Amino acid sequence: MTLVRIKIRVTGIIQGVGFRPFIYRVAMRNGLKGYVRNMGDAGVEILIEGEENAINNFLKALRDEKPPLAQIHEIVETRLEGEHKYKDFRIVRSSEEAELSGSVVPPDVAICGECLKELRDKNNPRFDYFFITCTDCGPRFTVIERLPYDRENTTMRDFSMCSFCQSEYRDPLNRRFHAQTVACPKCGPKAYLITNDGEAFPCKDPIREAGKLVSEGFIVAVKGYGGFHVAASTLKDKPLVRLRRAKHRRQKPFAIMARGLEAVKSFAEVSPKEAELLTSPMRPIVLLRKSAGYYLSELVAPGLHNVGVMLPYTGLHYMLFDEVDDPAFVMTSANPPNQPIVKDDDEALKTLGSIVDYFLFHNRRIAHRCDDSVIRVHGEKQVFIRRSRGYAPAPVMLREKARKCVLALGGELNNTACILNGEKAFISQHIGDVENVETRIFLQNAAEHLARLTNSKVEAVACDLHPKFTTTRLAEELASLNGWHFVQVQHHFAHVAALMAEHGIDELIGVCCDGYGYGVNGEAWGGEIIFASSNSLEMKRIAHLEEQPMVGGDLATRYPLRMAAGILHKRVSVDGWLEENTQHFPHGEREISLILQQLKSGYGVIMTTSCGRVLDAAAAILGLCFERTYEGEPAMKLESAAVGGKDVLQLKPIVKGGVLETTGMLLEVFEKRRKCTVTDLAFSVHDYLAKGLAELAVEKALENGVKVVGFSGGVACNEIFTTVMREFVETAGLRFIVHEAVPPGDGGLSFGQAVYAGLFQFETQPFY
Ligand SMILES: [Zn+2]
Ligand SMILES: [Zn+2]
Repeated sequence: MTLVRIKIRVTGIIQGVGFRPFIYRVAMRNGLKGYVRNMGDAGVEILIEGEENAINNFLKALRDEKPPLAQIHEIVETRLEGEHKYKDFRIVRSSEEAELSGSVVPPDVAICGECLKELRDKNNPRFDYFFITCTDCGPRFTVIERLPYDRENTTMRDFSMCSFCQSEYRDPLNRRFHAQTVACPKCGPKAYLITNDGEAFPCKDPIREAGKLVSEGFIVAVKGYGGFHVAASTLKDKPLVRLRRAKHRRQKPFAIMARGLEAVKSFAEVSPKEAELLTSPMRPIVLLRKSAGYYLSELVAPGLHNVGVMLPYTGLHYMLFDEVDDPAFVMTSANPPNQPIVKDDDEALKTLGSIVDYFLFHNRRIAHRCDDSVIRVHGEKQVFIRRSRGYAPAPVMLREKARKCVLALGGELNNTACILNGEKAFISQHIGDVENVETRIFLQNAAEHLARLTNSKVEAVACDLHPKFTTTRLAEELASLNGWHFVQVQHHFAHVAALMAEHGIDELIGVCCDGYGYGVNGEAWGGEIIFASSNSLEMKRIAHLEEQPMVGGDLATRYPLRMAAGILHKRVSVDGWLEENTQHFPHGEREISLILQQLKSGYGVIMTTSCGRVLDAAAAILGLCFERTYEGEPAMKLESAAVGGKDVLQLKPIVKGGVLETTGMLLEVFEKRRKCTVTDLAFSVHDYLAKGLAELAVEKALENGVKVVGFSGGVACNEIFTTVMREFVETAGLRFIVHEAVPPGDGGLSFGQAVYAGLFQFETQPFY
């Protein structure tokens, strides 16, 4: 028998996820002695003494059986000399447990299988307890006010544990050992119903009562982990009409929560990968294709081929469905237009009182708001539309350490903040559109909180190149206040840098397509091909889409017919066609004649290379969308229309001097609009643009000796686009990459800015 002493250092997301009790149990099982303790720098140190075989078993279990939420980044083992000196195995609780630099706070986690079983078990003390949790599940990020992650530093401190909960909390062999959110019906948060004028609505079982009310057609605000949802029926039109009117959301799809996976399959197609995501501990909203027999109200996701679905992630959510037959409820984030999701009770009463009939409250405060995440699956790959609950603030790991600690503030729409510290990039929860005071304050608080949680010593602040963005001004203020470097990063350069950092790539031809980004000289960009090399420190635009006129500037973004008119006008007369569509212009004929004048004179016309605007124009020509009521609407409807189509135009992409022509293609669509199906024409538009851009990118890659082509920007959320482009690039023998860890859209922009400023050293941007 050989006796061995060994010291093990483990790093990763291993604090607050039941890692030490797990180590304790495995050590006990193998008859080992020694200790486990949290280290100041987010690692865990284990010292074990015992027989060689037992130690090998321990090491194997460490890798194979780790708790579901733990993410191990590194395990370092050191054999030690010397006498065995421990008589037992202990969890050593040091007073200096404060997680230091680059430490990791776990995201919120959906209720685990064990807790769900207990919730349903009549003999369990936590039977029917809506906030049942353990070390494997429950809220984390949304309850933590400051570090270290102890109960006194969370919003659970308002609830002192009863003796039963305490006994579990103190028992290293119990699943709830040091589970900071442990609670039971006796000592934990309580739920209650109130009416929209603030009166108590007495009932024995407020949660199930709320479920019944929703099923009957009432609208109920439901307080959750990271904010309020507004719940409504998915089967009745009337509450949805009311909700759309009250929220000023005419067309924007509502996310829904289904009672279970089987229910989802009754109205949507679910691939194995999608099922895996739906049931994962992160429980994101997954965009699923509506099935042929889709029977939910058309008002849930109007004009789209897919619908955003999530599964219950707290005991409360499961209980909502207990006494109703509904397959799903609308569960949309409760936020007033352009404002962050509502998190406080008073705020909810004030801002939602006119929208909802009832409130389902609980009496635990929300420390930090956090919206649901949204994911799409392309083939086997996940694409983040929004990376938030379940993911934030877990870091994205980079291949190498950053040179500088950077705070990046992102852009303007669908924003996030990002802290780059060492080889970790911490992206904040979803912040939203930073256009007004409330969202700006939210952004600032979220950024400060993230910096504190990760104990980051920021040296530089990064933002967009747009001089008028709120985030640019905030970055300037922070830079001068704190003496930080101030770094502005061009929008599409940031997207491409994000792609490179995510995949650890030095040289890339990046195709970057979206709606709008401020170009290096102030032009409107959005369909760019970018060469980037961290070897030669270069980042530059080398090709792009044809410049097209936006008649009336931003008005052309809101009314895609204007975009179509501007493009078609270059080759044909559009007067007659516009007159046919008079009803789609808010000011009718007067507006049309002004548009025609502007097209002739060029006055009030802005040029753009945006890919999004070309897709908008196509959507208008095909009659799919005449007014954009939410970000990306025309392009999303065009994609939905294109599903199952074929390329009927068979156009060869026309490229002149690094510019991909788009006018001729749209003209063909216009001329064939009555001869071919909308589906085929919508598909043809995708095919032309995706192939054209891919061809151009491949040509530039060969010219520059680059082996990888990447695709970023909001258009990369589009599955048809991505599929066509991938096939073309891979057929040419090059590697094709897309985002997997951060959103391709503007939710990933802060990450791109941070790595641009702190990881790479490109010399094409102004550094101050
Ligand atoms: Zn649990
Ligand atoms: Zn209790």
